[in-house]
Amino acid sequence: MSRSEDLFKQAQISIPGGVNSPVRAFSGVGGTPIFFESAEGAYMFDADGKRYIDYVGSWGPMILGHNHPAVLEATLAAAKRGLSFGTPTEIEITMAETIRKIVPSIEKVRMVNSGTEATMTAIRLARGYTGRDKILKFEGNYHGHADSLLVKAGSGALTLGVPNSPGIPEDLAKHTLTVNYNDIDSVKEAFKEFGDDIACIIVEPVAGNMNCIPPVPGFLEGLRDVCDEYGSVLIFDEVMTGFRVAPGGAQERYGITPDLTTLGKVIGGGMPVGAFGGKKEVMDYIAPVGPVYQAGTLSGNPVAMSAGLAALQQLSTPGLYDQLYQRVDALVDGLQERANRAGVPMTTNRAGSMFGFFFTEEPEVKSYAQATQCNMEHFKAFYHAMLNEGVYLAPSAFEGGFMSAAHTEDDIEKTLQAAEKAFTQLK
Ligand code: PMP
Repeated sequence: MSRSEDLFKQAQISIPGGVNSPVRAFSGVGGTPIFFESAEGAYMFDADGKRYIDYVGSWGPMILGHNHPAVLEATLAAAKRGLSFGTPTEIEITMAETIRKIVPSIEKVRMVNSGTEATMTAIRLARGYTGRDKILKFEGNYHGHADSLLVKAGSGALTLGVPNSPGIPEDLAKHTLTVNYNDIDSVKEAFKEFGDDIACIIVEPVAGNMNCIPPVPGFLEGLRDVCDEYGSVLIFDEVMTGFRVAPGGAQERYGITPDLTTLGKVIGGGMPVGAFGGKKEVMDYIAPVGPVYQAGTLSGNPVAMSAGLAALQQLSTPGLYDQLYQRVDALVDGLQERANRAGVPMTTNRAGSMFGFFFTEEPEVKSYAQATQCNMEHFKAFYHAMLNEGVYLAPSAFEGGFMSAAHTEDDIEKTLQAAEKAFTQLK
């Protein structure tokens, strides 16, 4: 028995499902989750000492690779000065100013401790600012686990939302409208019927939680136009895409300016950090200047700020993003070529340093419906074959992959060799 198997058995006694976040339990791929002990650069090492090339990067934060020396040094130095003060600190100003420089649509920003907190507060702020209750989101987009956002579409395109989980009152879920990603007509229809009651649209500007699905041309532009027409707040949830699909996130990559932006993952350099920010006029609606309440004991924590700031500073290294994109191209093109050669139906998506692959006969995947129709058996078999070869991919067909600046050409080559073997086994 491997040590991971041992640990998983033990974990299940005291921790629900043995994990502190559901997707870690490998329910999407079957088998035993791997327990990890350490990580360095592009690699993670499991409890049995096996090395993996890591394309999960802690679900996005580790864009510089694990244990980047500058991030580590800044974190340790801050820890020595004190773990938490619960008071204003200078580094929070530096963090806010740095964010404003990289993401110019953000005129004011508030730090929180997770992506969930960021999106939960952004929609509260949008509701408070507009005085409206309804929000509009997209099926297959994930924005964390706040009640209003864990809501799926009802049976018809224009029915009101139904809770995705017990524990969420229907009375609340009914205020969440869910329409189709990359389908601007479904958005316009919803606004025709409910527009004057809709506080905001919240969207993953590149979807990363139904695998990786970039926006089709005109989609984000359409959302901007609809929000302008109806006086609704446009929220880009850039928890995943921020500092990843371009230095300034998807809004920079696609040239669309949202009213509010939520951030997480990369912004903490691996520490628990989130943020929401945007137009001054909207942000000044938040307490203590405005009436919308939000707070946090550990928000703006000095150790977390130091880690995140060091990461953001490293990301300004010239050429870093170009290298990330080239590595993604090499990996994704290489995967496609090998799948074709092996006769395995597969297609890929990419956006900056995010990528995804889909086992499907379709030439392109642009919608949630298409993503859900992919061949799960192929995905599971491929997943375990890659794991066996020392390549760690997200243990779910509905997560994108992440490249880091620490991945070398040699890592990509080794990954492609592993994939070649894995594709052959699928046949
Ligand atoms: N928004 C998006 C787009 C995300 O991908 C995630 C997490 N994967 C969240 C929000 C929630 O962030 P957290 O897990 O830090 O609460």
